[in-house]
Amino acid sequence: MRSNHRGLNLILLGPPGSGKGTQAKVLAKSYNVPHISTGDILHDVVEKGSALGQEAGRIIGCGGLVPDRLVDGIILQRLHREDCARGFLLDGYPRNIAQAGILDGVLAELGRSIERVIFVAVPDEVITKRLQGRRVHKPSGRTYHVDFDPPKVVGIDDESGEPLVERADDREQVVRERLRVYYQDTAVLIDLYEARGQLLTVDGNRPKDAVTDAVMAAVGAPVGV
Ligand code: AMP
Repeated sequence: MRSNHRGLNLILLGPPGSGKGTQAKVLAKSYNVPHISTGDILHDVVEKGSALGQEAGRIIGCGGLVPDRLVDGIILQRLHREDCARGFLLDGYPRNIAQAGILDGVLAELGRSIERVIFVAVPDEVITKRLQGRRVHKPSGRTYHVDFDPPKVVGIDDESGEPLVERADDREQVVRERLRVYYQDTAVLIDLYEARGQLLTVDGNRPKDAVTDAVMAAVGAPVGV
């Protein structure tokens, strides 16, 4: 595999519902690096119900971006943890140019750099369908789709037997706002990383195994495979 002694440092970029979360879980496991999802971390903060959590919850519920000051702190702390020594896979961060600048700073401080930015490209109409049928098993983060990837029993997680829920921000109006914010603030990062020669674009409008294979073919096989 990769012989980069500073670890395999990856970013997954893509619109909401592009499947980057699903890909991130598989890839992080295969490459044995932590999957760092700011969306998941923020949902945990919201669950805990602090004043900050309540502020974040209101914004997430409307489809907006949580203020940089909150997210930057989370990512700064997380990247300094020891388990990132072998690398990391960022999912949902950076989400705008300012965050990309913060990330550059943290990585410079750590003597690290981004190896690849994997852009998962999916058309808008596919995204809307995907997000509206998404169901989540909250404790594990396992996701299903009512049509494309249904659980064995409607509304029930296959492994635990516990109920599945719909994320509040997967409702139609919120999905529309998340897409608008993506094009307004996040899509510009595609050009940024392309200009740096770090971008790898994969067609995300395919079965998830095909997307994983495409990423692995470009990034390289994990150790021992
Ligand atoms: P995700 O699961 O990545 O779609 O994230 C869910 C929600 O968390 C987003 O719609 C945002 O409101 C918030 N969020 C996640 N990552 C970030 C980030 N890097 N900056 C600001 N808000 C974020």
